[in-house]
Amino acid sequence: MDIDFKKGQGLVPVVIQDHLTLKVLMLGYMNEEALTKTKAEGKVTFYSRTKERLWTKGETSGNFLMVKEIMIDCDRDTLLIKAEPCGPVCHTGAATCFKEENDDKLYFVNYLKDIIRDRKNSDSDQSYTKSLFEKGINKVAQKVGEEAVELVIEAKDNNDDLFRGEAADLLFHYLVLLEAKNIDLNEVLAELIARHKK
Ligand code: AMP
Ligand code: ZN
Ligand code: ZN
Ligand code: ZN
Repeated sequence: MDIDFKKGQGLVPVVIQDHLTLKVLMLGYMNEEALTKTKAEGKVTFYSRTKERLWTKGETSGNFLMVKEIMIDCDRDTLLIKAEPCGPVCHTGAATCFKEENDDKLYFVNYLKDIIRDRKNSDSDQSYTKSLFEKGINKVAQKVGEEAVELVIEAKDNNDDLFRGEAADLLFHYLVLLEAKNIDLNEVLAELIARHKK
């Protein structure tokens, strides 16, 4: 299926998404020549409406967008490119043109999940996480219980720092327990999503 350049008078909007974090990084436009160049070089080249010429993102800053996947939308008038940014995408120096303050840390949970799995499969004798797995599922589950109780205790105090700390402990040990049970966090989230639909 090919993109239809006619609808937008020769230009199609292109959403650029980080291939790992799935964050929307920026939006640009391409004409046919820009798309051909992008495919040939594996680097995103737009047609800049202000510069009125082809613009390879990163041509002066070096912050290129390396193409991972090019997708066409349902009615063939918009592109989504999953890319790996070589540096900050926005000319303001921000990682994305759509500045997010707090929710940008959420994807770290995914990364942490991977690290926990790595530790489980490692033979490190330095890793606290690995030592938890070695003690077995009952011990891991017990740790979750302990951290939950500590969080409950801190909930009654007025110390936000201690509360945050215990909340972090609980989340970490919760992720370890999921890994020990071979249940992916996505399966748990799917459960919540299914309930939400009811
Ligand atoms: P670059 O393509 O990163 O080398 O930047 C070249 C020029 O393009 C900058 O000086 C900006 O004027 C413009 N520019 C860079 N990044 C963006 C962006 N994300 N959105 C809009 N304009 C940009
Ligand atoms: Zn469309
Ligand atoms: Zn920007
Ligand atoms: Zn704790």
